[in-house]
Amino acid sequence: MKIALIAHDRKKDLIVKLVTAYRFILEKHELYATGTTGTRITEATQLPVHRFKSGPLGGDQQIGAMISEDDLDMVIFLRDPLAAQPHEPDVTALIRLSDVYEIPLATNIGTAEILLRGLDAGFADFREVIHEGDRRPIAL
Ligand code: PGA
Repeated sequence: MKIALIAHDRKKDLIVKLVTAYRFILEKHELYATGTTGTRITEATQLPVHRFKSGPLGGDQQIGAMISEDDLDMVIFLRDPLAAQPHEPDVTALIRLSDVYEIPLATNIGTAEILLRGLDAGFADFREVIHEGDRRPIAL
């Protein structure tokens, strides 16, 4: 599975803790991240992470492009709900695209843990059940 990891600045310590705690799951998958988040994760865990540009410089949109190609399976996006972001339109677009393509998306640590545990338990193919094997978005 291809998993994207993104964290706003005040959530970066938290995403490092998340990846450290769930390393035993995440190391079995291909990891992608926005620039600074990816650097922090690699420094702390030595896990291989494909790094895109920093979020405010287009990294969120690069991850969105992967989603639009149906080339990403999960997004963990620890966003900061208490701080305005200069690239808020990109944040909104990424969340919207995840919904368009029905990609599992966690925007806080609680959901992130549930998603990762579900992934480890083999529950990530739920779309196969609902769409009877058709993984394309319903609306398209
Ligand atoms: P960053 O980007 O990992 O490069 O800080 C995250 C974001 O703010 O979208």
